[in-house]
Amino acid sequence: MEIVDATVIVSSPGRNFVTLKITTDEGVTGLGDATLNGRELSVVSYLRDHVVPLLIGLDPHRIEDTWQSLYRGAYWRRGPVTMAAIAAVDVALWDIKAKVAGLPLYQLFGGASRDRVRTYGHANGRDIPELLDSVRARLAEGYRSVRVQTGVPGLETVYGVHAGTAIAPATADGVRVDARALPVVEDWDTGRYMRHLPRVLEAVRAEFGPDLPLLHDAHHRLTPQQAARLGREIERYDLFWLEDCTPAEDQSGLRLVRQHTTTPLAIGEVFNTVFDYQTLIDERLIDYVRSAVTHFGGVSPLRKLFDYAATRQIKSAIHGPEDISPVGMAAAIHLDLAIHNFGIQEYSGYTPLTHEVFRHAFTFDDGHLHPGEAPGIGVELDEELAAAHPYSPAYLPVNRLADGTVHDW
Ligand SMILES: [Mg+2]
Repeated sequence: MEIVDATVIVSSPGRNFVTLKITTDEGVTGLGDATLNGRELSVVSYLRDHVVPLLIGLDPHRIEDTWQSLYRGAYWRRGPVTMAAIAAVDVALWDIKAKVAGLPLYQLFGGASRDRVRTYGHANGRDIPELLDSVRARLAEGYRSVRVQTGVPGLETVYGVHAGTAIAPATADGVRVDARALPVVEDWDTGRYMRHLPRVLEAVRAEFGPDLPLLHDAHHRLTPQQAARLGREIERYDLFWLEDCTPAEDQSGLRLVRQHTTTPLAIGEVFNTVFDYQTLIDERLIDYVRSAVTHFGGVSPLRKLFDYAATRQIKSAIHGPEDISPVGMAAAIHLDLAIHNFGIQEYSGYTPLTHEVFRHAFTFDDGHLHPGEAPGIGVELDEELAAAHPYSPAYLPVNRLADGTVHDW
């Protein structure tokens, strides 16, 4: 068997997705997600210009060898663009292998370790009453665990509270290329946030009781000292986790946080390789590893990361917002079902159009996901419908303090 074609499909059924489709001489196809939110076209070029020519003629069953040759053979290792491109190849090849075997992918990872995959959803509000309504809405949808984010009094726009991505409107000729599609600028004040969050968690616990697993994302905005103090202050609200409390490329900074709080910590959605986690895992500085299949080089390295994390009793929590396409999400759910040290899966759903463009076997029911029993990852791309929704330039927001200084977003 050999690879005869590999194409990169960019579409925007509500938001931008980059999909790699690999085809074999026997007509078997595999899909991989290469979406890097806000920098999508850099991965498109990396794949089309530098990776696709290397794939033609290869044996699609040699997944590990192909992964290693793309990682080591480029000489320039790591980084989100490189690892998103490699991830797309990796997942597409696993999709092909499982289709040839006639099995859902999780069976090739050792089979199911659980019956279904627990998720958490996103609740957000501009203020506390709106947040409580949003939590009620998630519970009504079946979610059993909820991430809570609110606006902060005195700040106009805060992470997690509004859409968060600017998408250019279509022009008269239907081509959505608009120089005005610039990043939304949000504002930030760490002091206001740290004074407000305990009040938010107090209100949520008062309304929903002690049993509802609650998560919160600080989105890389605190120094280790601030994170240590906040984690200690909110211990009484018994969070499932505090996420991205400080920019974690400063891995040793987590020592300070860990010394001062028992609030569980989750980190890693912007990480690309196991080396980003080395201190965090070796020294047990976190409780959950958050990398996405799509940004970590695929399911092959993510399985290794989870095995490494298991040696320190650290669990998985795969990143899964709306900008991970249903292809990347499906791959994640197969892995979630199979590994032993599964923690939780982030899942915020998709627009009806996205579900139509990416027809998938995975299901969401009663707050849990299941990958389904279709051979492969269980996703097929409607290329005609995808083509009807072309790429639309979009950025993630940026963040500034009151005096105009850029802050972590
Ligand atoms: Mg996050």
